[in-house]
Amino acid sequence: MVIVALILFSAEFAIYTFSELKWKMSFHYRLENKALAVTRLLLEVEEVDANILRLIEKNNLATLPFEEIHIFDTNNQEIFSSKDSACLVIAPCVIANIKTSGEYAFRQGEYTMVGFPYIENEKQFIVVAGAIDVYGMRKLSNLRNILIIVFVISMIILFLSGRIYATRALRPILKVIEEVGVITESTLHLRVNEGNGRDEVARLAKTFNEMLARLENAFNVQQTFIANASHEIRTPLSHISGQLEVSLLNERSTEEYVRIIQSVLDDIISLGSTANRLLLLTMTDSDSFHFPMENIRIDDQLWDAKAELQKLHPDCKILIYFEGNFEREDSLTTFGNDQLLRIVFMNLMENGCKYSQDHQIQVIIEQLDSMIQIHFKDNGIGIPKEEQELVFEPFYRAKNVDKQQGSGLGLSLVKRIMTLHGQTISLVSEPGKGSEFTLYLSTYHS
Ligand code: ADP
Repeated sequence: MVIVALILFSAEFAIYTFSELKWKMSFHYRLENKALAVTRLLLEVEEVDANILRLIEKNNLATLPFEEIHIFDTNNQEIFSSKDSACLVIAPCVIANIKTSGEYAFRQGEYTMVGFPYIENEKQFIVVAGAIDVYGMRKLSNLRNILIIVFVISMIILFLSGRIYATRALRPILKVIEEVGVITESTLHLRVNEGNGRDEVARLAKTFNEMLARLENAFNVQQTFIANASHEIRTPLSHISGQLEVSLLNERSTEEYVRIIQSVLDDIISLGSTANRLLLLTMTDSDSFHFPMENIRIDDQLWDAKAELQKLHPDCKILIYFEGNFEREDSLTTFGNDQLLRIVFMNLMENGCKYSQDHQIQVIIEQLDSMIQIHFKDNGIGIPKEEQELVFEPFYRAKNVDKQQGSGLGLSLVKRIMTLHGQTISLVSEPGKGSEFTLYLSTYHS
């Protein structure tokens, strides 16, 4: 509305200004011509004197409204006035101005005035004429009124039609806003009506629906994660309290107490490990945690992981082999966080031992250009094909696991740590034959 108002106002202003200018010029021209004709008649026609001229002027139908013509001689004495009782008083300075600057136009009250010098028989006369442009002023006032009315009516029509069309155009968006407004975390399954499915509003609604689907999915994943996490923590806790309650029922032998304490200790260790993994999962998933990265030796971390794991599981056999040429210092160096990489190595080694009868795992370090591949190979129970993707999800455990304890968090942590390092992991496995996890680590880092 403001833009249209400005355009309309500018157009009307231009129309009015040009009309006023044109009208003034034309009136000025007519007044000047009239004054010139009267002056000529008086000064050039001998038979015409001031009285006759006044008489002629009185009866002249072409006389302008309130017209007055004054003629002054060289001594500034008025020799002619077209009216017996003139209203206009011509100031001496006006005559002086005409003498110095020639033709001179000005306004005196409501009068439009024009003055010019006139030379006759080498004598200079000064002619000053004035009239009120009654007709022009009335015309201009009419024009101004018409323009104001047109402006106001246009604005009213514009306002009303704008409101009607804007409301009609925005109605579908208001509907979408209303529908989105009622969606809360408990009604994330609701969707917005996609209308005709073709226009921009339909596209907006579709985009909202897609976003809702993503939110719902993320929300469900989070809910499941929380449920799984609390289950993983509650199970060992209830196991611990159950064992302690039973042991308190009767007096028991020392051996029995030792067995119960050992079992409780195992549960506490498993609980601690689950809590640590959960914490690490959250930390590796969040942008706000910063893990310091540096160039580290892969072989050192592998030996450390092996030593640490064998402390926890002395029956676990870990065989480490090197394949290729590792003469250069940086051929076994990668850029990363030593603690996180050690966790990756330990998890894969532990799984290899845990899920194979011989409790043995081979770790083969292979060098390829600027990359190192570390294979963790076992001859264990393997993972069914359809579950090979899923085992990297938190809390997922394959159906073929038997009595082996676990929380299903190790591989998801491994995957996240590898992603955090910008590196990858792959899995080849066959149920009953064994599994091979391969880590791909780039070695060169300046
Ligand atoms: P956890 O071992 O605690 O159950 P992980 O995340 O480490 O959790 O492993 C997820 C699942 O992947 C395991 O439950 C198991 O089914 C399967 N898995 C992992 N490593 C192996 C392996 N080396 N051999 C067979 N199955 C494995």
